[in-house]
Amino acid sequence: MKIRIHMIGGHYEEEVCLLLKAFLPDAVFVKPEEAQDAADWECCFDLRIDSMTFRIEEAGRELYGETCPVEEGVPSGERDAARKAYRNELLRLVYRGMSKVTGRTLPWGFLTGVRPVKLVYEKLPVMSDEQIADYMRKEYYCSDEKIEVSLIVAKRERELLSKLEPEKRCSLYIGIPFCPTTCLYCSFTSYPLEKYGDLVGPYLEALKREIAFAAECLSGQSPMTVYMGGGTPTTLTARQIRDLIEYLQSVIDFSGVQEFTVEAGRPDSLDYEKLCALKESGVGRISINPQTMCQETLDLIGRRHTTEQIEEAVALARKAGHDNINMDLIIGLTGETPQHVERTLSRIRPLNPESLTVHTLALKRAARLNLEKEHYRDRQAVDVVQMQKQAASYAKENGYFPYYLYRQKNMAENLENVGYARYGRECLYNIAIMEEKQTILALGAGGLSKFYFPAENRLERVENVKSLKDYITRVDEMIERKRVFMEKHTTMFRPSIHKNACSGEGTDLC
Ligand code: SF4
Repeated sequence: MKIRIHMIGGHYEEEVCLLLKAFLPDAVFVKPEEAQDAADWECCFDLRIDSMTFRIEEAGRELYGETCPVEEGVPSGERDAARKAYRNELLRLVYRGMSKVTGRTLPWGFLTGVRPVKLVYEKLPVMSDEQIADYMRKEYYCSDEKIEVSLIVAKRERELLSKLEPEKRCSLYIGIPFCPTTCLYCSFTSYPLEKYGDLVGPYLEALKREIAFAAECLSGQSPMTVYMGGGTPTTLTARQIRDLIEYLQSVIDFSGVQEFTVEAGRPDSLDYEKLCALKESGVGRISINPQTMCQETLDLIGRRHTTEQIEEAVALARKAGHDNINMDLIIGLTGETPQHVERTLSRIRPLNPESLTVHTLALKRAARLNLEKEHYRDRQAVDVVQMQKQAASYAKENGYFPYYLYRQKNMAENLENVGYARYGRECLYNIAIMEEKQTILALGAGGLSKFYFPAENRLERVENVKSLKDYITRVDEMIERKRVFMEKHTTMFRPSIHKNACSGEGTDLC
């Protein structure tokens, strides 16, 4: 479907387009001056001093039209509250129109941002649950179901965030960008081992240099959480895993680390030896990610392992002593229906993970699924909203509580990702990274360090290059980038004034 948008003045155009797209994900939006041929629908906005009008026309016939009075017209200047009120009025108008002509409602109403729970979180100190529910319903058209989950998440987050001590503590992220194969939907920094295996050694050497630099900056301070992700860190051999963690712990003080997680994501990267290496090296939490327990979907999305391998990996992890296992699922995978999700959940139940992260498929620009989307057009998932409800009920019935929630662009049905955990088994790192309330020092290819300044509630980002080869050859530049930033902006870290003081040499990782 092609939709031509006539927007007067260009106010809030991005927000309006996101909302239109949430109702019609396959629609192509064109501006009047760009449209070469006729569009199926015309969306017309007329924004005047005292009113705003929204019309939807199909071949010149009005499908919907509403005019809404506004008190002050289009606000200008610094008046944030007035601008927000005006924007919300406009989005409510668009929502009502789109809901009427498509016959649909959106679970999150017109909220299209990354952290919808933030609104609830901010209201907790000043409103009762009922008042918050009323506010979210009337102001944003949120459904009762999403209001309920937001309230639970916001309250749990409040407890967990209070542990982060952002003035004194940071967390550490270490990226291992190798995977057995590349998943269809992947947009992470990931290189298939078969093709890039000869770069593992040089990569670990470069990573060691950055770890040595981080140790120097921390100057004896212990990170609060450590998270090794990627990629799939368990594509490394058991020896490489042991050596890498040993090196890490020899230069960084681990005595105050409250949580050490390693993504053991793909079962085809796991064996008993590696699981023992993780456990014996002090890893307290691992993630084994099936995404689905339906073999036909696994084959379709390019994960070359079986559902039985997932069950075996969890059994081996338990045998190796792992008592805090997370499992990631994806709702909305190519070709899936609520029956597939039912099957997945019934096979997860006996594995009894301590936490469960339920993602909704997001179509990322660089992912193969997006690049080849025409090929998969007929195999789109059916009834994603229902699948999400199934996962939420499963979590509730099996003693998991939602504790973090976020959204990404282009998620199926404009839904969300939810982290569920048994009480006390939540991942602090996930809260720190999602809520952006603690500094995360990120090392490795694609690492995005986030420096949090609590006094100003402000965040600054420093990026590493994503390319594996660039990281290996330019690691000193990555170190220098961080050093310059830290020297200028932070007091928490003390990088040495002597450049290249951090040689990671002398440790045989590979
Ligand atoms: S396991 Fe994760 S990082 Fe690796 S290819 Fe699949 S989605 Fe990407």
